[in-house]
Amino acid sequence: MLKNIIAPVQAWLLSRGQCVGCGMPLKKGKKTKTKNGRFKITCKCGRVFIYDPETEKYRRALFEEV
Ligand SMILES: [Zn+2]
Repeated sequence: MLKNIIAPVQAWLLSRGQCVGCGMPLKKGKKTKTKNGRFKITCKCGRVFIYDPETEKYRRALFEEV
């Protein structure tokens, strides 16, 4: 199914610190610090990601984090 193709591509983009929707480097997104020490990154395309400084990784924000 299509989802099985998209997921690895999204994971690859995130591992490079790029938005899964538009490919923009997430460094350029709007960054706000969250209560638990992580950063919420809002991309210009409206997607929201969480950056964890401990693991230095990005991931998609969960529904309750948006
Ligand atoms: Zn984007």
